[in-house]
Amino acid sequence: MTDVYDGYQEDLDYLTQYRDDGDENVRLLEPLLAFRLAKAYRRSRRMRDHVRIESAGRTRAEQKYLYDGYKAGRPGFNLAANPDRIIGRHAGTTFLGSWHMEQPDGHTYAVDLTHHGTQDWQHIHEILRSFGLHTTVRGEREPWHHQATTIRGPLPGPFPDDLQPEEDPLTPELEEKLEGLATWFFNGVKLIIDKLDEVLDAVKEAKK
Ligand SMILES: [Zn+2]
Repeated sequence: MTDVYDGYQEDLDYLTQYRDDGDENVRLLEPLLAFRLAKAYRRSRRMRDHVRIESAGRTRAEQKYLYDGYKAGRPGFNLAANPDRIIGRHAGTTFLGSWHMEQPDGHTYAVDLTHHGTQDWQHIHEILRSFGLHTTVRGEREPWHHQATTIRGPLPGPFPDDLQPEEDPLTPELEEKLEGLATWFFNGVKLIIDKLDEVLDAVKEAKK
């Protein structure tokens, strides 16, 4: 999704005030993510009072710098994704490196949020989810990481009037079920192959 909607620049301007340290780059946020995040802040007082943008986007050059530093084991560098690694493909778009890295379409697809005060993630997640912002790292390992789009396309939530989806959004639950099905199928096939190997071994033994 590379089209922008009416009001995209205004939403990016609006979001700058909710950066945690002030140096987070929200300018690269993909349109649907910017739209949903700006909507969540505009509608929810809890968001405005307690939730801040901790990490947004980085350019490809920045990602490469982080990755090179990590690979070289330079002090102060943490695990960083290879900018050339393929995350996945969807509708003619290939996603590379990290969801926080600027993609070939010029946009970044993830935002890390943080909360201050007495709020817990559960309540904040309810608010975010109602605006179509989903945690996409499995098993709640990264409760701060949110996306509006994955390699399977846009997740359910509000869309700008002039940027409607071309296909039905896939729910995270359905996505998980499909993955479960794939695992089940893989295990089933593996069982058959193992059995075939056993039979072939038995035939080989019999021929001796
Ligand atoms: Zn993240």
